[in-house]
Amino acid sequence: MRKKILFAGIGLLLSASFCSLSAVAQGVLKPRPDAFPPVDEPAPKVLNMASSLEQMASWDRYPTYETYLAMMSRWAQEFPALCHVDTIGTSLEGRLILSMYIEPQTDDDLYRPEFFYSSTIHGDEVTGYVMMLRLIDTLLHGYGTNPQYTDLINRTRISINPLANPDGTYHRGNHTVQGSQRYNANGVDLNRNYPDPFGATKEPLQQENELMIAYVTAHHFKLSANLHGGSEVMNYPWDCFTSTTNPHPAAEWWQEVCHRFVDTSRTYSSTHFRDVTNSGVIAGGDWYVIHGGRQDYMNYYHNCLEVTMELSTSKTLSTDKLPEYWRFLQHSLVNYIAEIHSLPEGYNGISDLRSQTSDLSVYPNPASDRVTLDGLNAGDRVELLDLNGRVLIQAIKQSDNQAITLDVSGLPSGTYLLGTAGSKKIIIKL
Ligand SMILES: [Zn+2]
Repeated sequence: MRKKILFAGIGLLLSASFCSLSAVAQGVLKPRPDAFPPVDEPAPKVLNMASSLEQMASWDRYPTYETYLAMMSRWAQEFPALCHVDTIGTSLEGRLILSMYIEPQTDDDLYRPEFFYSSTIHGDEVTGYVMMLRLIDTLLHGYGTNPQYTDLINRTRISINPLANPDGTYHRGNHTVQGSQRYNANGVDLNRNYPDPFGATKEPLQQENELMIAYVTAHHFKLSANLHGGSEVMNYPWDCFTSTTNPHPAAEWWQEVCHRFVDTSRTYSSTHFRDVTNSGVIAGGDWYVIHGGRQDYMNYYHNCLEVTMELSTSKTLSTDKLPEYWRFLQHSLVNYIAEIHSLPEGYNGISDLRSQTSDLSVYPNPASDRVTLDGLNAGDRVELLDLNGRVLIQAIKQSDNQAITLDVSGLPSGTYLLGTAGSKKIIIKL
């Protein structure tokens, strides 16, 4: 007979109003726009649309869907030796999901790492949409004339997807972004719909994400960013853990990169990136834990360092403000691409997440009724947490000669964290 060592089911049904530990502790954080239903923005807005290429000339309008297609196609025709348009696929309503792939045609076989920008997975968060279009234009026209852009393009393969959720953006029709919505045509939040390594997603995988997964799988992106709006902050991984529960293996590098992004923008405007933290930088889970986001998907499944950029406090930015946002974001957006040439030293991808979790061995994993831990010392306190950091089971190892076994039969199946108190945790599946 196997003897149960210790079992204490603590707080399994803690208050239903419980939310992120760190958000509560800090008390001052602005709610994450990704974590709440869309809020109506009070200020009257101008949402001018460009229904021709000429009307986009001063970059103070949103393109109609047809103008967007015309812009992408014109660049491909104007710079055939420098770029081509990738068709990632079509949305549920049949709109094109495109990416501008910038790579000079050369005879050398120089290794060029692949970089990826993707914007507006939330259809109403359109600032990044125009920023990405303007970035494409700036890079292509700067090649051969601007030494920084020329060097960057010569050393990097850059893919820019300006509009990841066209059905959300053109929810009321191709001629306007007025009434754009966060969700795809099925009403699903695409940034909660990616395979999540550490938590369940609710809805079946949506077509737009399935296509995006095929696209990123066919490439080897090393660095990327997913662009949003509703706040102004650099949100680095993980989204599904707090930084104390399980820091990203490259957390220090992320902080440096995010601070560089914000600091550069502040040399052009000191008022931005202030609404969530003073630094303009936060670990995603410390703001609010979410599951099914693309950032964690890219980091975990593709070893691609992806960050979430929240670019404007207003989701659907008034068009007269677009040039101002470009002015203060332009250099940060270019410099972030160049960060691909200074990836964190010794970083071997996300396998580090498991190897850094000490000598502890846990079996079986996945487990059903019981889980046993080896590699501990007498007196060590073991705890099992859910993904919100709540301690569900605690036990103390009584002697060096005895393994420690936890009864987990009372817990619902899912993903949990296990380890000694105060240290990094191993991920277990029940
Ligand atoms: Zn968003």
